[in-house]
Amino acid sequence: MFSLSVSDIQTGVTLSDKTSVIQALAAWLQQDGHVATGYGDDMLAREMQTSTYLGQGVAIPHGTQNGRRLIKRTGIKVMQLPQGVPWGNGHTAYLVLAIAADSDAHLALLQQLARRLLQGGLLEHIMTCRDPAAVLALLQVQSEPAPAARCQLTPAHIALQVNAGSLSELVTQACDLLGLEGRAKSALQQSSPLHIGQGWWLCQTQGATPGAALLTLNTGPDTELASMVGLLALQVSDLEHKALLDQLSRWLAAGKGAELAGEPSAEALLAALEQGPEQRPPYYEKTLQVYNEHGLHARPSAMLVHTAKSFTAEIQVRNLTLDGPWVSAKNLMQMITLGASAGHELLFRATGADGEQALAALAQSMNDNLGESSPVPQRDPEPTDPAAGSSQIPANMSISGVTASYGLAIGPLFVDVPLEFDYPTQASDATVELQALSQALARARSELAATQQRIKDPQAKELMAMHRELLADASLTSGVQCRIQRGQSAANAWWSEIDTLTRQQAANKDVLLADRAMDIRDVGHRVMALLCHRQPVQPPSHPYIWVAREISPSQLVNLDISQLLGWVSVGGGASSHSAILAAALGIPALVAVDEAVMAVPSGTTAILDGATATLCLAPDATLLAQARGWQQQEQQARAKAWEQRQQAAITLDGHAIEVAANVANTEEAADAVEVGADGIGLLRTEFAFMARRQLPEVDEQQTMYQAALDALAERPLVVRTLDIGGDKPLLYYPMAAEDNPALGVRGVRLCRQQPEWLANQFRALLLAAGTRPLHILLPMITDISEWRWAKELFDSIQADIQADIQAPSVKLGIMVEVPAVALNAEVFAAEVDFFSIGTNDLAQYALAADRGNSALAALADGLNPAILKLIRMTVSAAHQQGKWVGLCGELAADPVALPLLLGLGLDELSVGLKQVAMVKSHVRQWRFSDCRQLAEQALMATDATAVRTLVMQAQNNSAVTDSRE
Ligand code: PEP
Ligand code: MG
Repeated sequence: MFSLSVSDIQTGVTLSDKTSVIQALAAWLQQDGHVATGYGDDMLAREMQTSTYLGQGVAIPHGTQNGRRLIKRTGIKVMQLPQGVPWGNGHTAYLVLAIAADSDAHLALLQQLARRLLQGGLLEHIMTCRDPAAVLALLQVQSEPAPAARCQLTPAHIALQVNAGSLSELVTQACDLLGLEGRAKSALQQSSPLHIGQGWWLCQTQGATPGAALLTLNTGPDTELASMVGLLALQVSDLEHKALLDQLSRWLAAGKGAELAGEPSAEALLAALEQGPEQRPPYYEKTLQVYNEHGLHARPSAMLVHTAKSFTAEIQVRNLTLDGPWVSAKNLMQMITLGASAGHELLFRATGADGEQALAALAQSMNDNLGESSPVPQRDPEPTDPAAGSSQIPANMSISGVTASYGLAIGPLFVDVPLEFDYPTQASDATVELQALSQALARARSELAATQQRIKDPQAKELMAMHRELLADASLTSGVQCRIQRGQSAANAWWSEIDTLTRQQAANKDVLLADRAMDIRDVGHRVMALLCHRQPVQPPSHPYIWVAREISPSQLVNLDISQLLGWVSVGGGASSHSAILAAALGIPALVAVDEAVMAVPSGTTAILDGATATLCLAPDATLLAQARGWQQQEQQARAKAWEQRQQAAITLDGHAIEVAANVANTEEAADAVEVGADGIGLLRTEFAFMARRQLPEVDEQQTMYQAALDALAERPLVVRTLDIGGDKPLLYYPMAAEDNPALGVRGVRLCRQQPEWLANQFRALLLAAGTRPLHILLPMITDISEWRWAKELFDSIQADIQADIQAPSVKLGIMVEVPAVALNAEVFAAEVDFFSIGTNDLAQYALAADRGNSALAALADGLNPAILKLIRMTVSAAHQQGKWVGLCGELAADPVALPLLLGLGLDELSVGLKQVAMVKSHVRQWRFSDCRQLAEQALMATDATAVRTLVMQAQNNSAVTDSRE
């Protein structure tokens, strides 16, 4: 068996980024003869697929399936980094274990590590450890603390369906389970059992060591015990059995004593006791065998966890072969503790409405080797229908839309058709209906609480909290109860109330309150699905392309992106805020696709191509093979871009441009560095304000900005001041409804009404900056008087701040997103420090096309020559005055726009985190001289389509990018 020694551990290492740590560990593994050259790159490729961060400051980088050929013999090397290294997704690793495993020899060690992590309390010790022996000691599993002094019922103390001819025989069996002997045994035997209801009996004796045993019966009708279903036997000294008795009595009070006694296993019975009768959902079990050659190491375990997480059922699993304990199938660390090798049998248990489907999906994944290629011969594959869903669709049928995120996805569609409910309008028993209502509400509350717990995004958490508050609204429930008392069914009563409330809310004059109608309907649907026993159709557990009419708030929040290949929506525009959010996930996406797509059967194979903005349905074998070829080229291009992400973006003929990141919160600053951004080109601060219940104080804001500046380590940070209004409301500042909110009181216009907001933001930013390079950006400036007002306020705050902490390198600039500013750019350029062009709004305002309206999505194209002219005017005015100009709209990530933006002379492009590496790589494929020529031609083109054709022809002629020919 493989074990770790002190010579495999280095402490006190100082390295600044994940790549250097992984490469250093790879070099060490190579030096000790475990791996060949290239293993470091392979581990980095693995990180691109899934992060190997385990928890509590520990990461376990390892290679890919393909990289296995580079492993000579199993080895693990450990580095302790007291200052920590960003490991992506906001995690910091302090202990990194690089694994090179050519067999399952390391599984036991991994299992031990996972167990140790589950014990908790590791992080602070890891950070302060001084020598390798101390690290080694830390990784050992600590002995369990002594059990609390109370009656603990464990599976070993439960016997199900026992046979007994008499009560005294049954009590004797209970004594054996409790391990009682001598006087203690005879004391229990002589006690008088008490009938506590519904065939359940209780017997108890005094004893210093508390203990409990539970037996259910399998007795014939003729025995003395015919009416008995279960016995609880106790040895107690005081009230140690109170909690256990409470659990049992809840089942009896609900009249479900017999149901409890019928639980199929000791574990199920324990879980039922724990959950109580109200919460007890249906329950399923399945035994599955591990076929993977090297057992369930981290990679296949992660696959199983992904599958398990796509279902709402509670899923637990135990290793039957090793007779191990139950663990959660949704927790990677716990899964690793199974120590499952090839051939082991695992028992899965799923509790919940979709439990059966969950087990079928897990079985399918296990049968498919969990994504690994090792062959396992004698297995019956689950029946599949290769032509599922595609029989009605003519081959190669193409539907077009508007690209919201570039890339190519190939896979089956999941068409998310909204649920329809079927229910009786009247009901005869109001008590039953009221009970159904309260159960559905309780279940909905716990679902929301679980989601709120799971998600990280503060804005999404706030949304879930608000949905819970809506559910708890007493006036809503009393309205529903009244209707039920008058004879309506629970479903009818609930929906009638929700419908009325939604209409009232939508008619509200206050826009913000009117917007809440969508949330009420969303919550209403959740409860309706429970009342009508309609399980919202779950996305498949295999990779898929998601098709939806609209993206509702809770859909975005609940989305498990692990299986999402791409998405397509009927509504929305390419620069609507929901599209920006989804594009930030880095998944190919189309919006404004024809409604007909909703009628396509789920399961139909499709090719989603962001480059041509098309969804090709039921592609034939030739097209599919061609698309796979493109996809492979694209993946290779991405991998190369990722490798070179920390290098500067310089064209073939030596012209450099900064590529920065757009972020929505300061925690993403570390991620910006990790993805290779040269800085942050746009921090949209309004999202941090929207996620709170009240305006953050100056010191809270200062800490926030300071954290971003620290993470960026002298790289530039552009912070945009509040852009509230339009489609970005502030919950705690209700605004009057406007006929045209996009043309209304928004951004700096609102701040002029609330000068203290802007003053506090300036103060916090200046205090946070010190001598570091900070750019402050004002949104929605239209008129020079707005700029002068803000500048005066800024100067007065700067003057207010003590001279010794004034921030000399802070620059103040404006967004160019209103066409008037571009047309007047010389006037502004003389006074501002810099410009950042917001093409999302610039296109909306210049082309008079609402950026969120799907019907106008194609019209609102930033490549319209009119927009290019506005960009050119802005750049030349800025450069004449020696000022810097960046561009932070979605156009910056469009590969077709890129050569034109280079040619127009922008100093910086700021794009989503996921796009940084690719944009840098694209810059390296162009010649600046060609870009300038192309930009000149584009400025003279007739429309956006002509501009796109022009660039694509140039691309094909010079074969600059990842050619698809
Ligand atoms: C823009 O308008 O282009 C921009 C970057 O700002 P936002 O998308 O936040 O309105
Ligand atoms: Mg804008």
